[in-house]
Amino acid sequence: MVCDLKEILALGDAGGFAIPAFNVCNMEAVVGVMQAATETGAPVIFQMYSRLFDNPDASFVAPMIHEAIRQLKTPAAFHLDHGADIPQVLRALRLGVNGVMIDASALPLEENIRVTRRAVELCEACGVPVEGELGHVGGVRDEKMSDFTDLEEAERFAKETGVSALAVMVGTAHGRYKKAPVLDIPRTRAIRERTGLPIVLHGGSGVPDEQLRLAIEAGVRKVNFATDLYYAFLDGVRAMGDQVLPVDLFMREPTRAVKDFAVDRIRRLGAG
Ligand SMILES: [Zn+2]
Repeated sequence: MVCDLKEILALGDAGGFAIPAFNVCNMEAVVGVMQAATETGAPVIFQMYSRLFDNPDASFVAPMIHEAIRQLKTPAAFHLDHGADIPQVLRALRLGVNGVMIDASALPLEENIRVTRRAVELCEACGVPVEGELGHVGGVRDEKMSDFTDLEEAERFAKETGVSALAVMVGTAHGRYKKAPVLDIPRTRAIRERTGLPIVLHGGSGVPDEQLRLAIEAGVRKVNFATDLYYAFLDGVRAMGDQVLPVDLFMREPTRAVKDFAVDRIRRLGAG
């Protein structure tokens, strides 16, 4: 069932849970996530990383996501993850996303506001809600952790850009953690209260359950899972070894691995 980003996050608000956003880049992952949503009855977000929109990949994967959403009885959205610039946002809109992230978080505040505002204007023209990022969420390999999202800046960013969801830096990172992260829950809650926006947590892979629970209580409504979904898929591939030749049959195991992973994360977020 088609639901745009704003509508699907509102379901999380109403029910006090977060929507899982799964990064998919092939058919098996799309089908695995779809099966997980069916099994749990949970709303889900299918998202594609920005890189896929820079080559023909997105035009193959996007129709599969549309088909999964069409078949699903649960609410589902199709989202651009980490949109890098306006041309990429336009390509994503053309492929039918109904949620867009524009990530200008590495730029100075004024520039971030300007680029994000422009993306919101364009997306508003076709009714697509936008997620912005303030406070840069880096990678686990970064030498130094970025500064956490500032409260005053968050309030201003929300007002001046008109975003529908806000990705923040409160202690997570992209990739597989060496040491479990400790999230700044009071800051998360304060940003939520000052902006009134659903908060998005990037780097959801490997955040301990108790931290997730507290973050959701504080206003997190979307949690992104990329790293651990890729690991689940590849573990499924490795488990098959060279047992099976027909590729469709071979791929049943990686698909099941993605499904099991997605079911587990859906449960952890309280979404199903
Ligand atoms: Zn991210």
